[in-house]
Amino acid sequence: MSLIVQKYGGSSVADAESIKRVAKRIVETKKAGNDVVVVVSAMGDTTDELLDLAREVTPLPAPRELDMLLTAGERISMALLAMTIKGMGYEARSFTGSQAGMITDARHGAARIVDVTPVRLRAALDEGDIVIVAGFQGFSRDTMDITTLGRGGSDTTAVALAAALGADICEIYTDVDGVFTADPRVVTRARKIDRITMEEMLELAAAGSKVLYIRAVEYARRHGVTLHVRSSFTTGEGTIVYNPPGSVPPRPHKDGVTVEEPIIAGVAADLSEAKITIVGVPDVPGKAAQIFTIIAQSEANIDMIVQNVSAAKTGLTDISFTLPMANGSATMQALEAARDEIGFQALQYDDQIAKIALVGAGMRTNAGVSAQLFTALYEAGINIEMISTSEIRISVVTRADAVEDALRAVHTAFGLDSDEEAIVYAGTGR
Ligand code: ASP
Ligand code: MG
Repeated sequence: MSLIVQKYGGSSVADAESIKRVAKRIVETKKAGNDVVVVVSAMGDTTDELLDLAREVTPLPAPRELDMLLTAGERISMALLAMTIKGMGYEARSFTGSQAGMITDARHGAARIVDVTPVRLRAALDEGDIVIVAGFQGFSRDTMDITTLGRGGSDTTAVALAAALGADICEIYTDVDGVFTADPRVVTRARKIDRITMEEMLELAAAGSKVLYIRAVEYARRHGVTLHVRSSFTTGEGTIVYNPPGSVPPRPHKDGVTVEEPIIAGVAADLSEAKITIVGVPDVPGKAAQIFTIIAQSEANIDMIVQNVSAAKTGLTDISFTLPMANGSATMQALEAARDEIGFQALQYDDQIAKIALVGAGMRTNAGVSAQLFTALYEAGINIEMISTSEIRISVVTRADAVEDALRAVHTAFGLDSDEEAIVYAGTGR
């Protein structure tokens, strides 16, 4: 008998009809002889609606109360799903995050999992019940309060439970057929990927692919959980995200082509970042340390950093970096306050940028990928403002309004286009 964890995103449980459809699917899995643990998100756009409501009553809702409010969304869907299944004549029981043993630290809105103790889930499974768990939420032993894991946290709940229960597979149900070579909402010729490594999936998620949350992929990699990303609207196979045995990079074929994996897994884009340029920084030891210590204090997660060659005459250089737009104003203020201390001339803020990333494990063993990427962008008339690379990723910054053209051009240039148009079943992207 297998133990299967299934996670259904908001678009898969958006209304009563959807809940009934999902319930049938869960019962089928149970009838096939499996133990089933289901993790649900809040229905449709419930979380966003609750957030709007909170901001209507007060501009800065108290974090503890916001978590109390938001966790209600998942409670609604878990209870409705459990009663639907019971109405079909099968045993099901729903559990909140704290009942399920999701123990977190006390950081409201961004809690990290510190322990998973699914004692009650085990007992319910042993009694033959289908177990339904509210995603995205936990409980802090320090404060005895309810917490949330951050937006999209239900993926993480599912993976953490799969790891703790030793599940055979963790199925992530969404409104597209799996992980695609690019966002099918933008690149209609995007192709479904059948199998992708955790490492590649991590890079794609980090680069803005929204199909899986990066924390969930990190957790799955660390704990050896295999993921199956698939549509709740069809029965087809989706994408298997797996930890390669021994996680060794693929060996090159004799003519230089990798046998096991395609060179490029996919391309992702991120519009949520901004760029800050610090103009006229004295080019002496210690300046970068000083600047990035100040930035770190504003808690911004910075990504690309570019320092220009300093002009010999002035001994001054420019430093640019990207960061989440949400951290933009706090970081600008912190830098402005340290202007005299650092001794720079000016600050520039630009939030009209897009970051595009090309990801593929085959890059390790294949030359010329950068040249091909830059050529594709050049031929599409797109200017590159910043470049950064890792072993299996190349990222570039372009103007925000060029992002869709850039994605399509790169997708075509690397031979990723499919013959058919990709299908998007819902619309919320989750
Ligand atoms: N409902 C939460 C959100 O929308 C958690 C999730 O969907 O995973 O962010
Ligand atoms: Mg949601």
